Amino acid sequence: MSDMGLVVVGAAGRMGQTLVRAIHSISGARVIGAVERTGSPHLGKDAGELAGIGRIDVAIGDDPLPVFAKADGVLDFTAPASSVEFAGYAAQAHIVHVIGTTGCTAEDDAKIAAAARHAMIVKSGNMSLGVNLLAVLVEQAARALAADDFDIEILEMHHKHKVDAPSGTALLLGEAAAAGREVALAGNDVRSRDGHTGARKPGSIGFAALRGGSVVGDHSVILAGTGERITLSHHAEDRAIFARGAVRAALWARGRKPGLYSMRDVLGLS
Ligand code: NAD
Repeated sequence: MSDMGLVVVGAAGRMGQTLVRAIHSISGARVIGAVERTGSPHLGKDAGELAGIGRIDVAIGDDPLPVFAKADGVLDFTAPASSVEFAGYAAQAHIVHVIGTTGCTAEDDAKIAAAARHAMIVKSGNMSLGVNLLAVLVEQAARALAADDFDIEILEMHHKHKVDAPSGTALLLGEAAAAGREVALAGNDVRSRDGHTGARKPGSIGFAALRGGSVVGDHSVILAGTGERITLSHHAEDRAIFARGAVRAALWARGRKPGLYSMRDVLGLS
């Protein structure tokens, strides 16, 4: 099979540049397009030069349609409104769309699910093998340790530029904990605490978000019992883990039926 031709949207971003480098280092895939928002100071630059790997003869443009038309897939770590728009274009082109963007609302997710009737979409709040394995372990731990005996709290820290909280990964881990407890996360989540909050509601799943410096992503799921505490943690040291996972997801989704897939599907952890 020929190399998978991939478009990186948000190509000048932190993840966009990491994706360009990752595609370049993985056999079976190549960058055939790079897109940035209209008005970006990086339009016209070579995506490889911007990412620090030298010229790859792919200029960053602001019109996704012509590049989507000739692509096999799109890697998208941008912003919720853009990812919804790109999902529509990926559906029109019947191609793979890997979405790492976090902070999507339920309405955004419904639009992405509708696009997945025609596109092969892989969406995950975290594309790393480690975090997806951690989610499986969290689900098992939450199932084994009864809500009456163990409280679940999720702590995350990210760099100072991150715009959404709790992180997509913290929510993914919260969903895993809720699945283990056989409850919905919505309605049982406590996203923040401030002031006279009263005692902890039994069975709730709490979140705390720290922001600062250049932290790529730290997550801990704490199962707190009376007299003992279990902590399951993941520390991301390099964005390359997310980018390699995204490329792996694209290669996996190529040739599959249209649908909405998760990283657990890609990694065989479902
Ligand atoms: P960033 O701000 O550095 O990059 C985002 C880029 O997208 C910017 O260059 C911006 O100009 C571009 N962009 C925005 N709208 C656009 C549009 N309509 N068309 C083209 N480009 C557009 O942010 P980042 O740190 O790279 O993170 C991006 C997203 O990825 C965030 O939602 C973040 O939480 C998420 N993320 C997910 C994972 C994961 O594994 N799922 C890992 C890291 C980051």
